[in-house]
Amino acid sequence: MFLKGKSAIVTGSTSGIGLAYAKAFAAEGASVMINGFGDAAAIEQERAALEATSGAKALYDAADMTKAEAIEAMVKRCHDELGGPDIIVNNAGIQHVAPIDEFPADKWDAIIAINLTSAFHMMHAAIPYMKAAKWGRIISTASAHSLVASPNKSAYVAAKHGIAGLTKTAALEVATHGITVNAISPGYVWTPLVENQIPDTMKARGLTREQVMNDVLLAAQPTKEFVTPEQVAALAVFLCRDEAKSITGANMTVDGGWTAA
Ligand code: NAD
Repeated sequence: MFLKGKSAIVTGSTSGIGLAYAKAFAAEGASVMINGFGDAAAIEQERAALEATSGAKALYDAADMTKAEAIEAMVKRCHDELGGPDIIVNNAGIQHVAPIDEFPADKWDAIIAINLTSAFHMMHAAIPYMKAAKWGRIISTASAHSLVASPNKSAYVAAKHGIAGLTKTAALEVATHGITVNAISPGYVWTPLVENQIPDTMKARGLTREQVMNDVLLAAQPTKEFVTPEQVAALAVFLCRDEAKSITGANMTVDGGWTAA
């Protein structure tokens, strides 16, 4: 339980990869602040389960990642009620699949706000606390799409490439403060985000569900297997260890070989 006494905020952690990060940090004893949308009773059940796992406090904060003031308030609430934040994970994300000439402008704005700008606000609010503590871990869930593109995902690919650049810049700025900043870039992970884009991809490319799964999603992944949320979370836990203190400014793939091709 090497994270006992430390606190972690994971944005977008009511589901998928974010929930896996929260569980993995709790398993190492961290107090965790979870965030995201969903059914109140289900969120409360997850929150209570995190406390049972960690033996430390777990809180839920409903901050909307499109709202700067809500993000700043969530970070301050973590500081006041859990300490830190020692670890922040910028993970909340949405997707929309359409060609640029048909891409709704409001979807573009929402994806850039949630998938990219929220990470800036999280860092802006958390870095002063981390500098004061002389220790911090900043992790962002980027994507294989921070390194390569796919058609019909303009906003997502732009946001994730942005995360890669923000990660490098922040790493340089805080390098002498005991704070590391890294991105984790998964390939296709089986979560609601992936499941929900299947109907749009079917429509955009005129394919069946099976064709989207095998010929579009797993076509890019040499292992022919979806990545699991737990595999992604295990890397985040490693990045929090003292042994990982020299890993900073990195964009680490967990993509079954996708971007090696
Ligand atoms: P998911 O849909 O299961 O989870 C997304 C989370 O973000 C949820 O908790 C949701 O409530 C939250 N969220 C959405 N909009 C929000 C907002 N405005 N404010 C606060 N929270 C909000 O998706 P996931 O697959 O677990 O994705 C998590 C991250 O991983 C995203 O950044 C995504 O781009 C990235 N990613 C996913 C995959 C994949 O294949 N699933 C691959 C690479 C990267």
